[in-house]
Amino acid sequence: MEDCIFCKIIAGEIPSTKVYEDEDVVAFLDITQTTKGHTLLVPKKHVRNLLASSPEEAALLFSKVPALANIIVEKMHAKGMNILQNNESIAGQTVFHTHIHLIPRYGEADGFV
Ligand code: ADP
Repeated sequence: MEDCIFCKIIAGEIPSTKVYEDEDVVAFLDITQTTKGHTLLVPKKHVRNLLASSPEEAALLFSKVPALANIIVEKMHAKGMNILQNNESIAGQTVFHTHIHLIPRYGEADGFV
């Protein structure tokens, strides 16, 4: 979709640090590293958010979460993870292409305890 920053990342038109990709989704580092390894999981198909998604689109996206989340936790030596998802401006959404935040947590070291 025109003027969608995540569609441009998916198309390779703007740079990102990709950590995972398959036929359905891509995952890349959030430009704002809330904690080290903060990753966004994004469907390749442009959909505004989960409120605009079909059950099948939502299920496909969430089916990728457990494996990717565990890989990030393991590789980053994190102790846990916040998995967050915002829908519409009022709820904090600033990029209007569905995405899931995967935010590794390290305890006191991440500054949020
Ligand atoms: P919020 O900004 O409140 O986290 P969202 O849930 O819509 O709102 O998240 C959008 C995320 O996209 C933000 O965490 C932001 O840092 C990230 N982001 C914006 N532009 C880029 C980019 N070019 N590459 C990687 N991440 C980006």
